[in-house]
Amino acid sequence: MDVTPILNSLNDAQRQAVTAPSEPALVIAGAGSGKTRVLVHRAAWLIEVEGVSPQGLLAVTFTNKAAAEMRSRIETLLKLPVQHLWIGTFHGLAHRMLRRHWQEADLPQNFQIIDSDDQLRLIKRLFKSLEIDESSWTPKEIQWFINGQKDEGLRPEHINDEGDPHRQQQISLYKSYEDICQRAGLVDFAELLLRAHEILRDNIELLGLYRRRFQHLLVDEFQDTNAIQYAWLRLLVGDNGVPFVVGDDDQSIYQWRGARVEHIHRFQKDFPGTQVIKLEQNYRSTRTILNAANAVIDNNSSRMDKHLWTESAAGETIKVYSAYNESDEANFIVGRLRDWIAQGNARADSAILYRSNAQSRILEEALINARIPYKIYGGLRFFERAEIKDALAYLRLVSNREDDSSFERVVNKPTRGIGARTVEIIRSYARVNACSMWRAAEAITSDGVNGRIANSVNPFMSLIERMARETNSLELHDKVDHVIHLSMLIEFFKKEKGEKGEIRIENLAELVSAAKSFEPDPAEEMSQLDTFLSHAALEAGEGQADAWEDCVQLMTMHSVKGLEFPLVFMCGMEDGLFPHQRSVADPNGLEEERRLCYFGITRAMQSLYITHAEQRRLHGKDNFSQPSRFISEIPDEYIEEIRPRIRNAQPMQSSTSTQQRMSIDDAGSDVGIRLGQRVRHKKFGDGIILNCEGQGAHTRVEVNFELTSDTKWLVLSYANLDLM
Ligand code: ATP
Ligand code: MG
Repeated sequence: MDVTPILNSLNDAQRQAVTAPSEPALVIAGAGSGKTRVLVHRAAWLIEVEGVSPQGLLAVTFTNKAAAEMRSRIETLLKLPVQHLWIGTFHGLAHRMLRRHWQEADLPQNFQIIDSDDQLRLIKRLFKSLEIDESSWTPKEIQWFINGQKDEGLRPEHINDEGDPHRQQQISLYKSYEDICQRAGLVDFAELLLRAHEILRDNIELLGLYRRRFQHLLVDEFQDTNAIQYAWLRLLVGDNGVPFVVGDDDQSIYQWRGARVEHIHRFQKDFPGTQVIKLEQNYRSTRTILNAANAVIDNNSSRMDKHLWTESAAGETIKVYSAYNESDEANFIVGRLRDWIAQGNARADSAILYRSNAQSRILEEALINARIPYKIYGGLRFFERAEIKDALAYLRLVSNREDDSSFERVVNKPTRGIGARTVEIIRSYARVNACSMWRAAEAITSDGVNGRIANSVNPFMSLIERMARETNSLELHDKVDHVIHLSMLIEFFKKEKGEKGEIRIENLAELVSAAKSFEPDPAEEMSQLDTFLSHAALEAGEGQADAWEDCVQLMTMHSVKGLEFPLVFMCGMEDGLFPHQRSVADPNGLEEERRLCYFGITRAMQSLYITHAEQRRLHGKDNFSQPSRFISEIPDEYIEEIRPRIRNAQPMQSSTSTQQRMSIDDAGSDVGIRLGQRVRHKKFGDGIILNCEGQGAHTRVEVNFELTSDTKWLVLSYANLDLM
């Protein structure tokens, strides 16, 4: 048999892995060393050479996209289609199993999957029916608790309450939630995994069936499996199955979501005689990029011993751009992208990576202005995010009470006791009388008959009226800020535990930033608020390239798993942002952030740009940060620093009085004001000049005052600043 097509594009170590005997194997290797490639070739090898039926293989990858990619690569290698191959994500495969064995799983045949929002809504209804006070318990906490227990494989009856009444109540809520789901035939994400595990564990026949079927089990990104996924896998492997897993301890970036890098060690204990194969040659990146990544990850203490090298040429240096602020950073990136595209490169070969979702807005705007199509990978564009739409819906109602979809969206968000029935009554009144829901609600609540409806709906209507009244004369960004504040959305999202709620709150603050820097077209005759709202609507609806269009890829560092790009930008590399503020004080957290950085760097094949901003307005606040400590962990020889262009700074040419004042006080300097210059204001105290615009009598400076941490724009000729 001719095995060359399968083996000839592999190095020795990879070939050893692909052709390994049918025994448990663990391929542990650094980024870009061909782990995924090995997995694909292993599957082809097993089918083509070992004669394993495609039905006898189970392959788990991290995303559906990766699974589709893997299937097509295997088909290319084998030159034939492989139906019947079980390949997918853990959730996808568990779901397939439950669909096939709904009876064994004790589910109705048409069971429904609920996503995390549905799940939360369900828990809220449960709270209401049990009359649980949301101020002592939040539905979000219970959701977190339930999913956490399920991820550990625990049902309510398995959890030790430790005699703690608090815990007893959590457990009993978990139980009630479970009863509701069971009655309604609903399955949440964590339940998919848990139940798929249970039907095998509790059903010897079924287990036997699958064990006989799957002789080989292949797993990619093994370092990020959680407890229940590992348990499911172990059950399936049994005594005769052959697990073949590939992973990289240095790329474990989901520990905050329950992933256990310890599984790499546990695997070797659970499967004695495991063959451990290391791949050490990196094929993805230039030597410069690889060495830089190695140098960064070397600062972590708890690592497995791995050495990654490459035959590639040194390639370009890594460019570090120190931007003045976030817009400057975005413009710089867009400028480089333009050059790159002009040279005939595909846009899809470039990626912009950021730590936090909220960073994307400025980048998106710069890309839209430059008419460069882009796509946000694995996430929503800024103005499409639920929390942003919620806030915008309030603003829309403030501007136009007739906006029914906004009315529907926020009438009971945050929850204010307006039930689905009430909304239905309003809706049908509006329908019958051909008026807006707002008018319908006014009519229904004012006729004195529907006291109950009035009690629940009136507070909402007065809230909107109050928003309109109180923000009438405010500046756009203050308007946005005040409406968000009155809406109680922040309090609402605070109850969402974990990262998600925090991200939503950050995004809301970012909306205020967006309003602050929004510059309406002077030709526009609408009010500023309306111009802003239509800008948001257009941004949400358009500009997003279709999936097949060649476009720049934007994504968070977390969602770039397994991917590679010739050109990569890592932006917002500032201490506090990356590493994230939360992780800085905690050594484990810092190590996870460093792995994420290693992970980001190793996505780049040829060109890597690292950017940071001295000043960044994020989440509605101005931050002044140091460049990320991770940048200084890259040896100087690999880096080329690109100095910032401070376009706004103008030498002082302003009114004589200020000029004199400057030259008296600023002895020795004839360039006038400098960015970063310390100044004193009679009323606001000491501060630092951040920005300077305009000329002559119109020169304005932006000053950050220490006392209030507030930033103000001042006209230089009136401000009477003392230079210090
Ligand atoms: P990650 O850790 O990021 O998941 P990985 O270890 O899975 O990376 P792959 O994505 O499989 O690495 O491979 C990285 C790149 O190197 C791919 O473009 C792949 O085609 C290429 N590559 C891997 N092995 C070889 C080889 N022997 N010859 C040529 N190219 C190779
Ligand atoms: Mg991979």
